[in-house]
Amino acid sequence: MSEKTACQRYESQVRSYCREFPVVFQRAGGPYMWDVAGRRYVDLLCGAGALNYGHNDPHISAALRDYLLSGGPVTSLDLYTVAKSRFVDRFVDVVLRPRGMDHVVQFPGPAGTLAVEAAIKLARKVTGRTNVVAFSGGFHGASLGSLALSSSPLLRRAAGTPLGAATILPYDDGSPAALEVLERMLQDRGGIDPPAALVVETVQGEGGLNAASAAWLSGVQRLARESGALFVVDDIQAGCGRTGSFFSFDGSDLRPDVVCLSKSLSGLGLPMAMVLIRRQLDAWQPGEHNGTFRGNNLAFVTAEAALDHWTDSGFLAHVDRLGAEVGGSLRELADAEPDGGARVAGRGLMSGLRFDRPGRADQLKRRLFARGVIAETSGGGQVLKFFPALTMTVAQWRETADLVGDAMTARRRPAAVLGA
Ligand SMILES: *Cc1c(COP(=O)(O)O)cnc(C)c1O
Repeated sequence: MSEKTACQRYESQVRSYCREFPVVFQRAGGPYMWDVAGRRYVDLLCGAGALNYGHNDPHISAALRDYLLSGGPVTSLDLYTVAKSRFVDRFVDVVLRPRGMDHVVQFPGPAGTLAVEAAIKLARKVTGRTNVVAFSGGFHGASLGSLALSSSPLLRRAAGTPLGAATILPYDDGSPAALEVLERMLQDRGGIDPPAALVVETVQGEGGLNAASAAWLSGVQRLARESGALFVVDDIQAGCGRTGSFFSFDGSDLRPDVVCLSKSLSGLGLPMAMVLIRRQLDAWQPGEHNGTFRGNNLAFVTAEAALDHWTDSGFLAHVDRLGAEVGGSLRELADAEPDGGARVAGRGLMSGLRFDRPGRADQLKRRLFARGVIAETSGGGQVLKFFPALTMTVAQWRETADLVGDAMTARRRPAAVLGA
């Protein structure tokens, strides 16, 4: 029995990405994956942002190999280990200190949703309030606390229990009035229970690559301060370099009380999550929040190695260059769509194309897969998402952009050819 048949027969119906890209992958390297037939695919799905450094980055995998050979502990609850201390040290040096961030780190367990759960539980504890404000189109995870902050009707319906203690307010829609609505709603008579936290993505990943303006984000931060709530940035997808800098809010006036990180934090795709907590807000009592898999030393090792990229001026220059290149080609591709029916969505290397015509993004997803490119749709199927590995070369990106252009201009192929 082939592997594919085994999964189709025995894996729950809940599986989803594999239905869109129904081949069996065997090997991966850099921006590519290969299936069992040896066919190569450009991976623009990028583990939904969990593989920002590409597959099996040589520097990061070497660190993992060395650690395994050294016989270091693999998992360790929250015991002190050399691997954890070294990662924390390096994270403070490379990320926190240069930004003047006096935050402590919490390891909540190995998933983004666990970081969000910990963040909102802490915010409730610190403020003594229960309500949490999040924004339309947002995605924060599929466990009940973070699901209450997420907009997807499919996921919310599946909760099977009322999702409470959250208010979802409108995300930035680009109109000057966007902030005024929030302001009115959060005022004394706005009818919203005083929030423990305002939780926001600077660019909505799952919600369709909506990029909030700097002014709106800074307004949300101000409203959080004015209403006595914690300002929480969920940087799980937009962070770790996806928008072109380590945090998605670098270079802005945002000073979040709490930051959630996961997806590309370990650099190699190993499960890992982290909550950054402004030191004065670290109100946890010892043991008050726990989890077995908080001490994934393999991920500490790879996460430490991944940070080396952020001190490498060659890497930083390359990410800028690739970002400019991707932005340029997406603008050209959008212009080529008939009747002005496409626009560039997102920010930095967290970009894609938003189509007016219903079904167009899905059609292109299928055409791209037939051409050896894996890209998903988001935002209710209107947006085609392109998440190139940050390590992809400009030449590799250009080749990929040509395939996208080819898929956009292709005529429907005759059925006989399609069936071949
Ligand atoms: C993926 C994601 C999460 C949830 O992370 P999981 O590891 O899937 O639990 C939370 N917030 C954002 C913004 C995400 O993109």
